[in-house]
Amino acid sequence: LGRRINAAVNSLTSQSVVDQTALDAMLKEICTALLESDVNVRLVGQLRNSIRAKVASALNKEEKESGSNANAIKRLVQKTVFDELCELVEAHPTDEQFKPKKGRSNVIMFVGLQGAGKTTSCTKLAVYYQRRGLRVGLVCADTFRAGAFDQLKQNATKAKIPYYGSYTEPDPVKVSRDGVEKFKKEKFDLIIVDTSGRHRQEQELFAEMVQIGEAVKPDQTLMVLDASIGQAAEQQSKAFKEASNFGAIVLTKMDGHAKGGGAISAVAATNTPIAFIGTGEHVHDFETFSPKQFVSKLLGIGDIQGLMEHVSTLKLDQKDTIKHIQQGIFTLRDLRDQMSNIMKMGPLSKVASMIPGMSQLADQIGEEDSTKRLKTMIYIMDSMTEKELDSDGSPFADQPSRIVRVARGSGTSVREVEEVLYQQKMMAAMAKKMGGKGGMMSRMQQMQ
Ligand code: GDP
Ligand code: MG
Repeated sequence: LGRRINAAVNSLTSQSVVDQTALDAMLKEICTALLESDVNVRLVGQLRNSIRAKVASALNKEEKESGSNANAIKRLVQKTVFDELCELVEAHPTDEQFKPKKGRSNVIMFVGLQGAGKTTSCTKLAVYYQRRGLRVGLVCADTFRAGAFDQLKQNATKAKIPYYGSYTEPDPVKVSRDGVEKFKKEKFDLIIVDTSGRHRQEQELFAEMVQIGEAVKPDQTLMVLDASIGQAAEQQSKAFKEASNFGAIVLTKMDGHAKGGGAISAVAATNTPIAFIGTGEHVHDFETFSPKQFVSKLLGIGDIQGLMEHVSTLKLDQKDTIKHIQQGIFTLRDLRDQMSNIMKMGPLSKVASMIPGMSQLADQIGEEDSTKRLKTMIYIMDSMTEKELDSDGSPFADQPSRIVRVARGSGTSVREVEEVLYQQKMMAAMAKKMGGKGGMMSRMQQMQ
C-alpha cells in the first residue's frame, strides 16, 4: 500500500505543472490502493473528499506565497493522507476509556467470533495486568466447544493465572456468574470472562452474550477482531456493537499478512477505539494500540517509533548510526553494527517487520535462515578493513579485487559479499531519503 501511495505521490513531482487533473489522477490511485487494503468504500470516498479539500486550500495558499512547488505539494499530500488515516483510526468515544483499578473487583468480558483470538487475548490481557501488580483471575464461559476449558486452563497455568471453569456445567451463564462471584469473594482486582463465539445461530450467540453480561455486569466489554478478515470487519463489529455495546476492540493477528484496512472500517463503524493489538501466539505478543504506529505500518513507512522504543530498552550501541541516518549517511560499519544489534534483539521476523523494506525479506526467508544469513553477513564485514567499513562501499566499486579478498577472508563467495554491498547501498539510499533537513525523519517528528 505504502509503495503504491508513494508511487502515486511521486508521479506528481515528475510533472512540471501540478494541475487539478494531475491531482485527481493521483487521488484516484491512492483511493484504489486503500480499497485494495480493505478500507471500506464509503470511508475511502470521505477520505478522498477531505484530502482533496485540504490539498486545494493549502495549494491556494502555497501558490500565493511561492508558486506551486511540486515537492511541497508532495509532502502536503503525504502528510494529509497520514493525518486523515490517523483521524479515522482514532475513535473519539463520548465516554472515558475504562482502566481497571487496584482495590476493587473489575470485570472485563470478552466477545467475538470463534477463532478471532478471544481465549488467547484473555490470557495476554491477564498477564499484562498481572505484571502491573493486579491480582487477575480468568473465567471460562465457553461451555459450547469441547476443549475450550482445557485451552484456557493450559494458557492460564503456563502464565500462572488463577482460573475458573467447569467440565460438567452446560450453562455458560451459571459458570460465569459462579466464577466471577468466587474471584470477587477472594478480592481479586481483575476478573476476565472468556466467552464462546459460536452457536448454531447468530441470534443464540448474541442472546447468550447478553445473558452473561447481565450475570457478571462487566465494567468493560472488549470485542476481539481478527485483523485478517478484511471487509467483513465492518458488518461484524456493527452486529456485536448492537448486541454487546463493547467499549473497545482488541485487534488480533497483526503479525500476519493482514492489510489492516478492515480495522479502520470497524473503528469508524462503531466509533470505538482499538485498545490492544495481538502480534503473535505467545502471551507477550500483545501491545497497546498506537494510531500513528498503525498507520505508519499500513502506509509502509515502517514502525520507526516502535523500533526506537524497542531498541531503547536494549543496551545497544546505536548513537553513531542514528547520527549517521540523521545526516543521511549509512556506512558498511553501520550495517555491521545494525546486523549485530538485530542478532541481540531476538525474534528477527518481528524486528524486521518494523523496518521499512525489511518485512518482505523476513517473509521470504525463514527465521533460522535469516539468522544464518545475518551471521554470514557479519563474518563478511569482519573481514573488511577499518577504512572499508567506514566507507559507503565505493572502495569495492573502485577496486573489485577487494571483493575477492573479503570473500576469501570470510570463507564466503563473491556473490555473498556483493549481496552485503547491495544491502548497504539500499540502506544508504534510504538514509539519504530519511535524513537531512526535509527528510522523512524530521517530517515524522513534525507530525508527532
Ligand atoms: P477464540 O476462538 O476466539 O477463543 O480464539 P483462540 O484464542 O482460540 O485463537 C484462535 C487461533 O488464533 C489460535 O491458534 C491462536 O493461537 C491464534 N491467535 C490468536 N491471537 C493471535 C495473534 O495475535 N497472532 C497470531 N499469529 N495468532 C493468534
Ligand atoms: Mg476461545
